[in-house]
Amino acid sequence: MKYQKPKGTRDIFGRELQRTEAVCSTARLFFEQNGFEEIRTPTFEFAQLFDRSIGERTDIIEHEMYKFEINKKLYALRPEGTASVLRAFIENKLSLPARFFYIWSMYRREKPQKGRYREFLQIGIEILGEDKPFYDAEIIDQGKRFLNLIGAKDFTIEINSIGCPKCRAIYKNKLRDYLEPNFSNLCSNCQRRFERNFLRIFDCKNKTCQQIYTKAPKITDNLCAECLEHYLSVKKFLNKFGIDYTENRKLVRGLDYYTRTVVEFKQQSLGAQDTILAGGRYDLLMKELGGSDAPSTGWAMGVDRLLISMPENLPKIDEKKRFFIATIGERFINEMIELRDLIQQNNFICLMGNPEDSIKHQLKKANRAKADYSIIYGEDEAKNKVCTVKNMEIGDQKKIPIKDFKTFLRNTIK
Ligand SMILES: [Zn+2]
Ligand SMILES: [Zn+2]
Repeated sequence: MKYQKPKGTRDIFGRELQRTEAVCSTARLFFEQNGFEEIRTPTFEFAQLFDRSIGERTDIIEHEMYKFEINKKLYALRPEGTASVLRAFIENKLSLPARFFYIWSMYRREKPQKGRYREFLQIGIEILGEDKPFYDAEIIDQGKRFLNLIGAKDFTIEINSIGCPKCRAIYKNKLRDYLEPNFSNLCSNCQRRFERNFLRIFDCKNKTCQQIYTKAPKITDNLCAECLEHYLSVKKFLNKFGIDYTENRKLVRGLDYYTRTVVEFKQQSLGAQDTILAGGRYDLLMKELGGSDAPSTGWAMGVDRLLISMPENLPKIDEKKRFFIATIGERFINEMIELRDLIQQNNFICLMGNPEDSIKHQLKKANRAKADYSIIYGEDEAKNKVCTVKNMEIGDQKKIPIKDFKTFLRNTIK
């Protein structure tokens, strides 16, 4: 019997895990520095939470959730982060305004593609209880600065406003009039979606649909006075932050809960699968989920996809030197432990050989463990109060007095 991982999942180890961890630890430092607090919630929730927040007529809810029933209760693995953050915020009676970040695995049964997995890692931020345009611009600025910090290049920022229920109701009639003569030419998905989820038809990848939508009236040109003012003000702040962006009138985002500002960061090198960060404002969601009236905004970025487009060497990865201590004879075990502690206190990696093994055997192990240096300690070394340091790459070795070993670690090993 041979076991395989489920389709669309992956094993991460070695270099790729280091790269992933480098992005995550940088995110922790950066978002804490910007006043966001980390939050963790259960990996699964009652499925209803997602139906309610993401919207029942969306791809995620209709086909992509991992659901399971236990004792007549229906659960789902989280397909995204915002609903869980809001549920936790309401349930724990936290106070507004609030700023959270999360680094979580998400689960969607999508068609596996390059950089797109069924279990995938997202970093997200949310600002809860702030309705002013400044905060829409701030989260975009946070995204841009974070991506710059980890060395991502060549991404563009697209924004749009998709208004509020008030402007959408009027706009929907306008759109219906425009689509009327062409309605039967739309794909069945778009025809079905128009009633409950009409803005999302713009997300359709079908060429005929897209052609019809090119000339269709856009929500952006049909905003109510308040939404228009909000949108203009977001753009003003983006300019003040010095952020280059383009306006994409067809950008509507795939989830139901967005209002007003929506944003996507796109990576050029990823071709068709090019969105690395997406989000926007969701002013009505907190109330919808049973909380207070708390306009909010946030985004999430896909770490797996981001890493595909990143240089192999992330600026934040420091390769730690590896040591291997080969002690000859168990009577030197205390010295071995002292050396190990000293090495680890200096923030290097240190492994120990079995002192009962021969020196040859231990050095072979050091090689296999990819050690940069082996420290040899035996009878001779003990007599002369030194240790032998062998550079495993070039093969040369020298004796360092034990009393100078700390200085040697600090000054010589980079
Ligand atoms: Zn409006
Ligand atoms: Zn369509």
